[in-house]
Amino acid sequence: MKPGMLQSAVIVGIAAATIFSAGWFIGNSGRSLSWVSDVQAAGGMVTGPNVEVPDRYVYYPGTEVLAKDEVRVIACGTGMPDARRGQASACFLFEFGNGEKIIFDIGTGSMRNINALMIPAEYLTKVFLSHLHTDHWGDFASLWAGGWTAGRPVPLEVWGPSGMTDDMGTKYAVEHFLKAYNWDYQTRAYKITPVPGQITVHEFDYKGVNKVIYDQNGIKVRSIPAIHAGDGPVSFIIEYAGMKLVFGGDTSPNKWFVEHAKGADFVIHEAFGTPEFFVKDYNQPPQLAWRACCEFHTSGQAFGKIMSEIKPRHAVSYHSFEEAFEGVRDGIRETYDGPLSVAVDNMVWNITKEKITERMVVSTDRALGVRGPARQPPPERGMPSPISDFIKEGEWGPAFNAQNRMLDEHSKKYNLEEMDWRKQKPWYKPNE
Ligand SMILES: [Zn+2]
Ligand SMILES: [Zn+2]
Repeated sequence: MKPGMLQSAVIVGIAAATIFSAGWFIGNSGRSLSWVSDVQAAGGMVTGPNVEVPDRYVYYPGTEVLAKDEVRVIACGTGMPDARRGQASACFLFEFGNGEKIIFDIGTGSMRNINALMIPAEYLTKVFLSHLHTDHWGDFASLWAGGWTAGRPVPLEVWGPSGMTDDMGTKYAVEHFLKAYNWDYQTRAYKITPVPGQITVHEFDYKGVNKVIYDQNGIKVRSIPAIHAGDGPVSFIIEYAGMKLVFGGDTSPNKWFVEHAKGADFVIHEAFGTPEFFVKDYNQPPQLAWRACCEFHTSGQAFGKIMSEIKPRHAVSYHSFEEAFEGVRDGIRETYDGPLSVAVDNMVWNITKEKITERMVVSTDRALGVRGPARQPPPERGMPSPISDFIKEGEWGPAFNAQNRMLDEHSKKYNLEEMDWRKQKPWYKPNE
């Protein structure tokens, strides 16, 4: 290559990087760019000075009803194991037009984004785990205990892969999760109600290739093996309303993904930052950096090669720091020129056979799952108290009695006289 050619190639590269850096905004703008032609954009014409914008760049949680044949996918976490305030670890929530909601991976920090969607806890009961690295299930505890406190009436259900040995599988992990959180379980079960603290595990063979592991209400989920760090990791293929959606967990390029994700409507796959990024910005030893990105994970170039082969209607990359996106995008664009989102937390896609839109969730930091119609069963009688007489006798009466007027009003308002817990207390002085 002559020096002049190199220079122009660099300029083209920079121009491309600039366009792709703003890819999601351009993708939303409705301009007909070949590589985003399938992404229907927000921003339809505003017809007057005092009318609604017909098609927005933003999704306000709780304001839209899905059509029966529609799926909404929300990136609740797109980052790395060391979750940050601005970026949680891997998590994608799939909401289906039939009302079902399934969480695919629930990495550290992701529950903050999920809660901001204001979905009642009773509808967040199903979790699929691609593998058992903490950046893919580190916030499982928050869903388990938080949803229990927030009114989930039923157990959680978890689908996850087996391992090479029993102690490397999902069933073992969940059983021991419950052992690790036994104190939390016992105290919450006694004070609230035990059933929502239970977890049903559906462990399936990680070696299964395109085997159906879930088939309910018109949603089928299949699993394919992934190659990542050790035996066990998988990716998921979701079929709904005649569409094929794919959630790839951590994996290096593998033949099962290429074969079974082929022609899918919507494909999520990891794409790692460059080895140079990890050396310069993450202080990784160079010999680790070039294996992490490119042996146990998938680089931008490899991601692009995979997408060019399977040709999805829309491809989504995740699992990198946002600061590394330029390198990720440049790598992808060396090998793939199709529709692409480089996902950030709170990106949202609406997917039907006709169109795929990409927007951002706009929510507030303090939003929580709102209440749904279901009610939890009452506390179970006969459970052993997790508090001894020694500790009970430490209750300091004057401060408890100082609450009496406020509690009397509450009792009167909700007819709780029969259940007045104060009557059994040695310190109780009703008139104080
Ligand atoms: Zn992993
Ligand atoms: Zn990971």
